[in-house]
Amino acid sequence: MSKTIDMEVLASLCKRRGFIFQSSELYGGINGFWDYGPLGCELKRNVKDAWWKTMVRAREDVVGLEASIIMHPAIWKASGHADGFADPMVDCKECRKRFRADQLCEEQGLALIKNGSAFALPADAACPACGSKNLTEPRSFNLMFKTFVGPVEDESNLAWLRPETAQAIFAQFNNILATARQKVPFGVAQMGKSFRNEINPRNYTFRSREFEQMELEYFIRPDEAVKLICGRVATLADNPDLAGEPQADWGWEVWHRYWVEQRLAWYRAIGLPAADLNQHWQTGDELAHYARACVDIEYAFPFGVQELEGIAARSDFDLSQHQKHSGKQLDVFDEALKQAVDRLDADAKDHCTQRIVAAWTGRGKSGEEARAFAVKLYEGKYVPHVIEPSAGTDRLALALLCNAYDEETITDEKGKTDQRTVMRFHPAIAPIKLGVFPLVKNKPPLYAKAREIFAKLQRRWPCFWDESGAIGRRYRRMDEAGTPWCVTVDFQTLDDGTMTLRDRDSMKQVRLGISELIEKMDAEIG
Ligand code: ATP
Repeated sequence: MSKTIDMEVLASLCKRRGFIFQSSELYGGINGFWDYGPLGCELKRNVKDAWWKTMVRAREDVVGLEASIIMHPAIWKASGHADGFADPMVDCKECRKRFRADQLCEEQGLALIKNGSAFALPADAACPACGSKNLTEPRSFNLMFKTFVGPVEDESNLAWLRPETAQAIFAQFNNILATARQKVPFGVAQMGKSFRNEINPRNYTFRSREFEQMELEYFIRPDEAVKLICGRVATLADNPDLAGEPQADWGWEVWHRYWVEQRLAWYRAIGLPAADLNQHWQTGDELAHYARACVDIEYAFPFGVQELEGIAARSDFDLSQHQKHSGKQLDVFDEALKQAVDRLDADAKDHCTQRIVAAWTGRGKSGEEARAFAVKLYEGKYVPHVIEPSAGTDRLALALLCNAYDEETITDEKGKTDQRTVMRFHPAIAPIKLGVFPLVKNKPPLYAKAREIFAKLQRRWPCFWDESGAIGRRYRRMDEAGTPWCVTVDFQTLDDGTMTLRDRDSMKQVRLGISELIEKMDAEIG
């Protein structure tokens, strides 16, 4: 149900009203980088605050982390990014433009040919810019930005800007576990800048080279531990109540679905209509080799239905990799598991080990690995598995801008029609919550009253003072900024304290006093 918005028109409003500017515009801009202006930075801050509030502060089982952007390069070796975080790139030999081979093929309804880790173009692939078929073969291009730590620019000082925030959570797992007084299942959330040297940044801010992510790593027990503790592992077939409290017997499949539901509910709560949100369940070779399931939550952007967030069940891959590469233990001791295994006799343990070996070898792992895992389990230990909801702040801000944008024809009492542009943000997301206007500026008592009201409200919410131009013009400017309400302070305010409140969406006006106004805004901003 993608809206028909001209992205150029939206970008021009974003520039005109101070949501988004091209980075370094003064010097002609730099491709793939964007700046958020006075309204845009408030919008983004609201998005991040809403995420943090829901994912961390409102939960007892999630804590936060704020890690450095540059980390030890060994982290990116362990995670697989140093060797595998690459996109296939092709160049047009005629017009010299550069493209991502997978995207170029997808847009032309073709399939990129995979030969192991190498790629080849199908014969009829053509340059999207000039139509030439004279293209280079795809070459892998690592997306991580390189830099050097310290004054000497040699390989031993090479470092990367993080391409995702998640890895720091794994690298700090032991410290968090030791300090946060949490037990599995629990999560660690982080938001912050990530950098990817995208081959072809495009669709406005959708694919940028510098962007922000909001990521959660939610650590759960492996199903084998759940089975030993609870005697069973709940699956989706058991119809668990995903909106209710999580249960001890949930297996990874239920936890994964739980997070998909949580995240969808959050997107709806901040104003994205359910009809514009889509779930894409990755299948077959779309799935990373270690992932058991991955869902992309997509939004119907004007340029197509595209990913906002990926929610992956990543097994114990990440912590195991870091355990292997760092040589440090990243397993946990689980008291409930130890108590459960202490009740088992030798036969029951043998039986359990056989089941684990059969299941693991069925998934392509070695019997030896399975037996080592079982031995740990009987000590009450395991490497936690993880569910990862990973969202992009800038993509979400763009979705909210697209969703909010509206143009409508309005007719006044005299039958005169006019066109208005209005950004219909959810009040929680709107950069400015309230416009405060004195009806006139040359009447000192009225003006002073309006300033007093403004000062009172501004302590609670971002408000905007506007005293210039006709009231109608002031409303229109606030409509374009997406401000849900405006109040006008007039002569009656001096008598009875009431003001005119004008609603952005309905344009209806009512009179109310300041305490009623505060109550209303509190309820609607949430
Ligand atoms: P894509 O397939 O679109 O390149 P991805 O699957 O590589 O994205 P992830 O690695 O799963 O993305 O990153 C998680 C989230 O981070 C994405 O869902 C997206 O919202 C955001 N993100 C990733 N790359 C970019 C980018 N270049 N610009 C803006 N946001 C991004």
